[in-house]
Amino acid sequence: MRILVINCGSSSVKYRVFEHDKSLCDGKIERIGEDFEGRILTHAKALQQVLEAVNSYKPDTVAFRVVHGGEKFTSATFIDAEVIAAVKARIPDAPMHNPYALAAIKSCREAMPDLPQVAVFDTAFHVRMPRRAVTYAIDQDIAARYGIRRFGFHGISHSYVAARAARHLQAPLSDLRLVTLHLGNGSSACAVEYGRSAETSMGNTPLEGLVMGSRSGDVDAGVLLSLLRSGDFTVDQLDDLLNNHSGLAGLSGISNDLREIENHAEQGHDRARLSINVFAHRARKYIGAYAASMGGLDAIVFTGGIGENSTSMRRRILQRLEFLGLHIDLDRNADVRLDEDNDCAEISTGHSRVRALVVKTNEELMIANEAAQLVAATNEASRPARAIPIAVSARHCHLTAETFEKLFGPGATPTVDREISQPGQYACKERVNLIGPRNRIDRVRVLGPLRSVDQVEISRTDEFKLGVDAPIRDSGQIQGSAPITLEGPHGTVNLQEGLICARRHIHMHPDDAEQFQVEDRQEIAVAVRGGPRDLIFGDVLVRVKDSYKLEMHIDTDEGNAAELSSGELGDLAYEDIDNVSAEIQ
Ligand code: AMP
Repeated sequence: MRILVINCGSSSVKYRVFEHDKSLCDGKIERIGEDFEGRILTHAKALQQVLEAVNSYKPDTVAFRVVHGGEKFTSATFIDAEVIAAVKARIPDAPMHNPYALAAIKSCREAMPDLPQVAVFDTAFHVRMPRRAVTYAIDQDIAARYGIRRFGFHGISHSYVAARAARHLQAPLSDLRLVTLHLGNGSSACAVEYGRSAETSMGNTPLEGLVMGSRSGDVDAGVLLSLLRSGDFTVDQLDDLLNNHSGLAGLSGISNDLREIENHAEQGHDRARLSINVFAHRARKYIGAYAASMGGLDAIVFTGGIGENSTSMRRRILQRLEFLGLHIDLDRNADVRLDEDNDCAEISTGHSRVRALVVKTNEELMIANEAAQLVAATNEASRPARAIPIAVSARHCHLTAETFEKLFGPGATPTVDREISQPGQYACKERVNLIGPRNRIDRVRVLGPLRSVDQVEISRTDEFKLGVDAPIRDSGQIQGSAPITLEGPHGTVNLQEGLICARRHIHMHPDDAEQFQVEDRQEIAVAVRGGPRDLIFGDVLVRVKDSYKLEMHIDTDEGNAAELSSGELGDLAYEDIDNVSAEIQ
């Protein structure tokens, strides 16, 4: 498969042809829109040059970076009239990006009408951010009417560098809490919590958050109202001020290029120094906020033109983070030189608990991989379907021997009530009461056998009843989860952590995994059809073990949503979830 990747900005077009992970050719056409002795280089002309340059490599698919896809696109998508209409509809929110992607799509369609086109969205990685992170605290009717919510951007880069960092740290991404900082002309921070974007600094538009080259990032909305009320600014002038004359450019009065600002700062230029300080301060503030919102931090990852190249900016941002357990190694930081072969460097000391990395971003490779996966998945759509039994798990607890004895008395051990579906697991006769700050839920089943850590699994509805904030987690991943009080007939135990909403998952024996052609920890979709309410569960985690029996586990809220009861069947959805053809058996 040969994939031409096109990454179109307001004044440049980057392109690259990939065969698998190998880059066959690449280039960048810059200064689009500028006047060269009376001749203006347009996007259409730049695209013509790109197509001439790649013609001899004979790509069979074209993939485009699309900055804003709204909440509709959670993954790479084949481009059709509907996708084009959706990208067009987002032009007001991404005026510097979406029109140019559309221009590139049109030029390529005209020049290569037979090649499939794929859109890879910067918003897709963030689509599943929790509601509390995407919601602005304004009137929700108005928010709904005008589509005002956070989308987040730079998702291709954040997800790429997070995955690259996990490889360097030799840990599954699903076990890590990272803050990724994409610092360049556009800048954003992302809290990547166990592999997912949990929060990001750009919001409804790419204007919010960190200080950027010429964009302001966070500004009190009241300031904008004052400027409008002054009568000195039209809406367009305000737009121009915030997007083109703010950030490093506005602060320094020199340039949007950090290199120039750093040179001036060295000469004692006060506003140059102020811009550097404001930039670093804002980035550090976001790291602290995201560490708190994730309940911990394993690594900070720098990328983008500034993140990859500015030794002094990285050093400034990481100052004062020792309290988090992060210790920068100044020599390593000064020695970072990244290139294609050497694309990840560690800049924390050997004893630093929180690690700091610099990763060369590769949005084009990520786009090519996503497009290749989409094409491959479509080719595999004819794979055999097999029914998956679905079990609806009521709220329950797994307890340690120590907690069990505190609740049920010294020497107490679980009494088997009945076997449950996974081999060796059983429901106990014993039940406990959950006590939250708002309410209590009584007679919650204990499951056996006893475990090495306490874990209480509830649904979202239970969460609100108890008045707690339980994160969605894989079983066993309780670090930084919610506290809860357990009450038994003998005593009470306050768990500092352990309360979770279990992430939906499928237990599989390795033979099942082979048959379904999926791997341990892969995320898949399962379609439930033929019942009163058809539903496709996306984001289902595959867990493979010799001792497992094929079964998907969902909680009661999820079961109710599909009007399901235990014992019903679902089908693995190999295709994009909008396109599933599988039927319940
Ligand atoms: P990007 O938008 O990711 O290409 O980043 C562009 C920005 O990176 C430029 O505007 C520069 O401010 C910054 N940059 C690139 N190289 C360096 C460097 N060696 N030192 C400081 N800043 C740099």
